[in-house]
Amino acid sequence: MTTRTLSSRKHIAVVAHDNKKAELIEWAFYNKSTLARHKLYATGTTGSMLEKALDQNITKFLSGPLGGDQQIGAKIAEGKLDVLIFFWDPMESQPHDPDVKALLRVAATWNIPVACNRATADFLLTSPLMHEKYEVILTDYSAYTNRRLGR
Ligand code: PGA
Repeated sequence: MTTRTLSSRKHIAVVAHDNKKAELIEWAFYNKSTLARHKLYATGTTGSMLEKALDQNITKFLSGPLGGDQQIGAKIAEGKLDVLIFFWDPMESQPHDPDVKALLRVAATWNIPVACNRATADFLLTSPLMHEKYEVILTDYSAYTNRRLGR
C-alpha cells in the first residue's frame, strides 16, 4: 500500500469564486487562529483578499481564470498540497469551468480532503486530523500506467 504523510502543519489551498469570496473571507477570519497554524496557498484574487483579512503570508498563484486552478491542481499531483478549500459557485458558470472540473478530479485522484462549501470547511478545520500527522492512502494506478505502456 502506498501512502503519503501529511504533516501536522498542513499545506492548504484556498479558492473562492467571485460570488463566494465574501463568505470565504468571513469564514477565514472567523478561523484566523486555526489557519495561522498551517501554510496557505490560493489563487490570485482570493489570496490577496485572504492576506489582507488574515494578516498572514499566502503563496499566491495566478488568478483562477488565468490558470491558477490548474497550478493548484499541478501541486496536488506533485504531492505538495494537502487540503483543498474550494468555495465554488453552484449558480453561475465560469469561463474556466473545465479547470474547475479538472481541479476537483485531481483532488479525488490523489485522495486529498476537499471542502466545497462552508459547512464542510468547518468540519474539516475542526477535525483533530488537521493538527496531527496523517497517512493518505494512495490508489495504486500502476495497472493503468502499465496498460498504457503496453506491458
Ligand atoms: P481568483 O480565482 O482567486 O483569482 O478569483 C478563483 C477562481 O475563480 O478560480
